Amino acid sequence: MKVSVDAGSCHGHQMCAIAAPEIFGSDELGNAVVLITGDIPTELEAKARRAEGNCPERAIIVNE
Ligand code: SF4
Repeated sequence: MKVSVDAGSCHGHQMCAIAAPEIFGSDELGNAVVLITGDIPTELEAKARRAEGNCPERAIIVNE
C-alpha cells in the first residue's frame, strides 16, 4: 500500500494526522504531508484507510 495527498484538495484540517500520526504530518502551511514515502507497513494499513475515509476533502489517495 502507498499513500499520497492531493495537495490541491487538502484544506489542512489535520484529521489525518490525528487518525494516523505515524503516516501524516503537516507542512509549514498546515497542509498534510505523507511521512512514509515507501510502502505503508502492514500494521499501519488500517489507520491509513481510516484517515482516507475521514478526510473531509477526499484528498487522501490510497493505492493498494
Ligand atoms: S484530513 Fe484531508 S484535507 Fe485535512 S489535512 Fe488531512 S489530507 Fe488534508
